[in-house]
Amino acid sequence: MSDGIPGFSTLAIHAGAQPDPATGARATPIYQTTSFVFDDVDHAASLFGLQAFGNIYTRITNPTTAVLEERVAALEGGTAALATASGHSAQLLAFHTMMQPGDNIVAANKLYGGSINQLNHSFKSFGWAVKWANPDDLSTFEAAIDENTKAIFIESLANPGGIVVDIAGISAIAKAKGIPLVVDNTMATPYLCRPIEYGADVVLHSLTKFMGGHGNSMGGIIVDAGNFDWSANGRYPLMSEPRPEYQGVVLHETFGNFAFAIACRVLGLRDLGPAISPFNAFQILTGIETLPLRMQRHCDNAKKVALHLSAHPKVSWVSYAALPEDPNHALQQKYSPKGAGAVFTFGLDGGYDAGVGLVSNVQLFSHLANIGDTRSLIIHPASTTHRQLTDEQKTAAGAGPEVVRLSIGIEDAEDIIADLDQALEQV
Ligand SMILES: *Cc1c(COP(=O)(O)O)cnc(C)c1O
Repeated sequence: MSDGIPGFSTLAIHAGAQPDPATGARATPIYQTTSFVFDDVDHAASLFGLQAFGNIYTRITNPTTAVLEERVAALEGGTAALATASGHSAQLLAFHTMMQPGDNIVAANKLYGGSINQLNHSFKSFGWAVKWANPDDLSTFEAAIDENTKAIFIESLANPGGIVVDIAGISAIAKAKGIPLVVDNTMATPYLCRPIEYGADVVLHSLTKFMGGHGNSMGGIIVDAGNFDWSANGRYPLMSEPRPEYQGVVLHETFGNFAFAIACRVLGLRDLGPAISPFNAFQILTGIETLPLRMQRHCDNAKKVALHLSAHPKVSWVSYAALPEDPNHALQQKYSPKGAGAVFTFGLDGGYDAGVGLVSNVQLFSHLANIGDTRSLIIHPASTTHRQLTDEQKTAAGAGPEVVRLSIGIEDAEDIIADLDQALEQV
């Protein structure tokens, strides 16, 4: 703590939480209830009319989930947050609050594969289009924006690993066009990078990954930076026009710098419904208490493994921004100086067969499609997540036949390296 402002590790443990007012319980209790009793008829009316804050029904608010929301908002430096059932549902609710049929999102082409599917396919049925831009060439973002563009969407540390995106550069383009910058900060977490400090207007997470951190609970969150003017040009009517179901309340006018989080809750979450369970909120809160310790260990281990693989005779290349010769190293030094995260890719001289051989022979690593567990994880995208693509499409997506993706855990680095060495010996 300095100047009375708690440090990051203190916030990770304490933000949003206090001893339970009913029982004194020190850990945040799991309020495993669907609904909450009203004090009286007037209290009920004021809750339903958005004149008072309070709990009605766990689809919309819950006291355990509220602690998680306050904690992540504090860690990201936002004004408020809304937790959801998964990272994908956080994306759905954030865009639902900005978009009308006929609108489009300009998105970085380096995104989590599931997000590419969501934007390319499911969002189309809402009448929302996507225009892809390349984070290696910021002019492609500017060129893609038109009068129906309602948001720019990027990842800070981007999939499939090893890529750092110029958040401030893209934020300047968004600001010039009067549209919000939405940043998926899942792979970095606020321990490594706080996108709001570089101009992000909304920060999203899959809490399923490093935030929860133990591979046991799904969750997502939307963080409102509180800076964007949703009323400037009438392009965000959910925020700037009277809501008939709330007696004509205008959300941006009434809720000011946390109106976006409120709108995602009282329109999107209320009607689309992907609420997180209080049990999962509790599990993720517990995980966040050790986030700074875990993330530093993830990064330190990942760097050791990346250095080891760079010198391995069967490895043709390693893409990890913490390596000094990596093309993303300068951006990593600016945006994520404590480390480049736990996820990266590398190429095997032996191509497809070597990739299959490696994942078949690891013992400590788990062969599965996830990232951000305490455990070390491995996947060969060409034979799994990307197998439906042509070879050309695979290579364009960074998932060529020779590519292996690792999510380095927090075991002993020597054991992680020994496992890769014994498996590489067999390919
Ligand atoms: C996993 C992931 C998502 C989706 O989150 P879920 O919790 O699986 O719905 C979105 N973005 C990134 C970067 C992810 O890694």
